[in-house]
Amino acid sequence: MKIVGLTGGIGSGKTTVAKLFAEIGIPTYIADDEAKALMNRSKTIKRELIGLFGSEAYYNETINRTFIAQAIFSDKDLLNKMNAIVHPKVANHFKQWVTEQETVYVLKETAILFEHGGEKDCHFTILVTAPENIRIERVIKRDSKTKEQVLAIIKNQLPEADKIKKATFVIENIDLESTKNQVLKVHKKLLQAIIID
Ligand code: ATP
Repeated sequence: MKIVGLTGGIGSGKTTVAKLFAEIGIPTYIADDEAKALMNRSKTIKRELIGLFGSEAYYNETINRTFIAQAIFSDKDLLNKMNAIVHPKVANHFKQWVTEQETVYVLKETAILFEHGGEKDCHFTILVTAPENIRIERVIKRDSKTKEQVLAIIKNQLPEADKIKKATFVIENIDLESTKNQVLKVHKKLLQAIIID
């Protein structure tokens, strides 16, 4: 079973691209959603996060993402501590999930991949890109954030040019029809590479 990491900056369209792979039958693990689900159902994570952030970390038994996002945004130490609690549990859950899949490869979508050297755990990587102005427009429309807020998030992420150098495949997501074609091409190349291997 080969693991393909799928990543991209905010608003690049990685979730959109992940859905296109899912539509052609590739099992897709959306790490952020799975982390969120684990934060809600794992009693250990809940206890540890309340220990780190205080009781405001949860609201009516549900993880308070807005509060946590604000707390970690400008505090790298807190972010690292939270990652140390959540990441190993997500990694274990992912490993278990992989054993339940029956295709030649699976996709793992994650906002942070190259930032933490996560490519080491992948056989191939796909980077989704789009021009910065388009990404900003998409996020403003989707999340009703201001341009300044989106720019601050972009500044916090690894520059796209650095990620392009590291990725096995790059999918430029501007026009959806072209994106669909690129997904099919990458899928074909992955199958060829896996079969030859
Ligand atoms: P984030 O890191 O913020 O979660 P993402 O990289 O997963 O973002 P998506 O959620 O897939 O990005 O896309 C961001 C927004 O842009 C969504 O509202 C999505 O519907 C829209 N979008 C994505 N790709 C396209 C496209 N090719 N054409 C038009 N709209 C698009």
